[in-house]
Amino acid sequence: MTSVHTDTAPQVDAEDFRDILASTREFVRSVVVPREQEILDSDAIPDDIRQAAKDMGLFGYAIPQEWGGLGLDLTQDVELAMELGYTSLALRSMFGTNNGIAGQVLVGFGTDEQKAQWLERIASGEVVASFALTEPGAGSDPAGLRTKAVRDGDDWVINGEKRFITNAPLANLFVVFARTRPADENGTGIAVFLVPADTPGLQVGAKDRKMGQEGAWTADVAFTDVRVPASALVGGSEDVGYRAAMTSLARGRVHIAALSVGTAQRALDESVAYAATATQGGTAIGEFQLVQAMLADQQTGVMAGRAMVRDAARAWVDGTDRRIAPSATKLFCTEMVGKVADLAVQVHGGSGYMREVAVERIYRDVRLLRLYEGTSEIQRLIVGRGLVKQAQRGH
Ligand SMILES: Cc1cc2nc3c(=O)[nH]c(=O)nc-3n(C[C@H](O)[C@H](O)[C@H](O)COP(=O)(O)OP(=O)(O)OC[C@H]3O[C@@H](n4cnc5c(N)ncnc54)[C@H](O)[C@@H]3O)c2cc1C
Repeated sequence: MTSVHTDTAPQVDAEDFRDILASTREFVRSVVVPREQEILDSDAIPDDIRQAAKDMGLFGYAIPQEWGGLGLDLTQDVELAMELGYTSLALRSMFGTNNGIAGQVLVGFGTDEQKAQWLERIASGEVVASFALTEPGAGSDPAGLRTKAVRDGDDWVINGEKRFITNAPLANLFVVFARTRPADENGTGIAVFLVPADTPGLQVGAKDRKMGQEGAWTADVAFTDVRVPASALVGGSEDVGYRAAMTSLARGRVHIAALSVGTAQRALDESVAYAATATQGGTAIGEFQLVQAMLADQQTGVMAGRAMVRDAARAWVDGTDRRIAPSATKLFCTEMVGKVADLAVQVHGGSGYMREVAVERIYRDVRLLRLYEGTSEIQRLIVGRGLVKQAQRGH
């Protein structure tokens, strides 16, 4: 039986949420920020930080309480994300797939049996879940994916190739999208399966070498005659897959937008601190009006992004907009943080180009935000198409 979680009922009251937010802020700023260089140099999140995140419930903040999570709704999730964005984005990535794109497929579309089997361990961090949708030639257009699942008796046999899969080298569970039939007038023919990482025939490739977000790992995942039982089919239905992917991604877009705001705030804070103290010819560079203009543009971007994120999260939770607002907000906030990070490097002058200066890392970290969970071009298409459809329906 599929029970659809609607994400409408807040499970954490305002007072408890204030405590969660305060302790997350303290953890990020006092524990993780001082160790950003270590994360960057080792390309890993230190074990004690991973354990602390588990102990704080961060692997399951968006998983409902009945399954062992903190049960934050999206309006609370975005406040947390704005705190998490303040440090190396690898921190959030460590538990991002559990709470977000992978976990939400189970929360929203899993059967009660599937939820009982996986969600508590996902929420505790015992299980790392990865979302495996993208393939060579099927990124922006996942409807074109070619991984196949073929029925064989009571089992499904999966063959195909996925790429750029976040947390794949660490994952215990893959949420895998595969075609069970060609697309037709009834739908895309895409289903979604729960595939434990140790299933024979599943092979995780070498860790990708990326531009930024050191400490967050991606890899290819290959499926060669991977056999899973019927109970691995999410929601017990072949028709759930595409809708589950789109719903999970749309929700994730509001979260990524919030993360962008958090990182933009950090880039701004670094810029203001530098401008107030660094000097040229004995004058603090922050006294120069052209530098002040850069700070003003950064501040304006952060404030606009924050307002938009809160608005979009509210619209998601009350169900008034789960399509245009997530895409418009991701588009604006990820582009905004790109500009804010670029300005932060500019404010720092040559120092901003040097490794070991936070804004240099931020500049590289945030580039990804405009690419994954839908590129900026795809967000524009969703918003534009959505507006025209709405107008046509109105006529
Ligand atoms: C670090 C990282 C982590 C990732 N994690 C995951 C993950 O955990 N799970 C997962 O499934 N995927 C993941 N991805 C994949 C990511 O979602 C895709 O890379 C992204 O959606 C873009 O797809 P693509 O790479 O195939 O590029 P393409 O789709 O080939 O895009 C190339 C360019 O063409 C443009 N374009 C494409 N189609 C159109 C169109 N119709 N109209 C206009 N412009 C278009 C794009 O906007 C882009 O500018 C990750 C990627 C990276 C880099």
